[in-house]
Amino acid sequence: MPVNVLFSARPALWSIYEPLLTKGLTEAGLDFRLSTECEPDQVDYVVYAPNGGLLDFIPFTRLKAVLSLWAGVEKIAGNETLTVPLARMVDHGLTQGMTEWVVGHVLRYHLGMDRHITVQDGIWAPDPPPLATGRQVCILGLGELGEAAARALAALNFDVTGWSRTAKDIPGITCLHGPDGLGTALSQAEIVVLLLPDTPATENILNVETLAMLPKGACIINPGRGPLIDDDALLAALNSGQVGHATLDVFRVEPLAADHPYWAHPNVTVTPHIASETRPETAAQVICENIRRGEEGKPFLHLVDRSLGY
Ligand code: NDP
Repeated sequence: MPVNVLFSARPALWSIYEPLLTKGLTEAGLDFRLSTECEPDQVDYVVYAPNGGLLDFIPFTRLKAVLSLWAGVEKIAGNETLTVPLARMVDHGLTQGMTEWVVGHVLRYHLGMDRHITVQDGIWAPDPPPLATGRQVCILGLGELGEAAARALAALNFDVTGWSRTAKDIPGITCLHGPDGLGTALSQAEIVVLLLPDTPATENILNVETLAMLPKGACIINPGRGPLIDDDALLAALNSGQVGHATLDVFRVEPLAADHPYWAHPNVTVTPHIASETRPETAAQVICENIRRGEEGKPFLHLVDRSLGY
């Protein structure tokens, strides 16, 4: 009997992924059937993205795993109808894209690029930018994406501190962890990058108290998830000058409403959830590898710990 793989994602992605998954599953030597529609009790694997609309996994009686195309799994991790392994996306194309986006936005702040990009006033006032050495950047989240961004910034000589749930040892990065480490991580951060998952433990991690721990005028870059930030607290901190500028890629409600105060705020840059995305060529290989592993009885890669939500 063929391995039945159901593709449940935005319909426009099917024509992109169908040939890539077909190639990968063929190369894996599998007898398979890949489709966007299948009787639920026939499905072995679901290739999943939240905008595929699939919510109830109870009828999927022979399901072996759900394989997410997204790195962030907050929309499915708490789904109680899902009782089989859930794997998230770890894709080096996605990681490279995020590293480039984070480094670009850190450099914007570090070099004060806006001054010359937005003001061409005819005044010749040389004020060369500083070196990265000694510029304190703090990355909240040292997972696949956070660690890669931290390493890239450290390679440019930024003074990088990272913060995670568990202890880490990454050469060239000051690693802090747990609730006790957060205050220390934030207290010297001139630029803060959020690359945490959206879980009950990380919601509003930047709030009135933690924003007050930052040095005055610190800049925030959030490509993680909207709920990581208490929006009212951030707006108040921007208005008081406690936070100098924020670049926000993700929001509690997306698309961000046209009348949301972030759009109009002079010290906020909104980007429309484009920091990085799963790259089909590399991501399809990850999906196929996990299906191959499942069929060979091997442990799946990139499993989500459902109790932690990431
Ligand atoms: P990982 O799961 O690899 O890393 C998550 C990191 O967050 C880990 O270092 C983890 O700590 C840390 N963490 C989790 N919970 C806590 C906590 N309570 N306290 C402190 N640290 C915590 O995720 P990725 O790096 O792959 O992705 C991070 C997020 O980036 C995704 O969840 C998603 O929301 C977002 N994303 C955004 C995109 C965009 O375009 N804007 C694109 C892709 C992803 P530990 O290492 O100890 O487990």
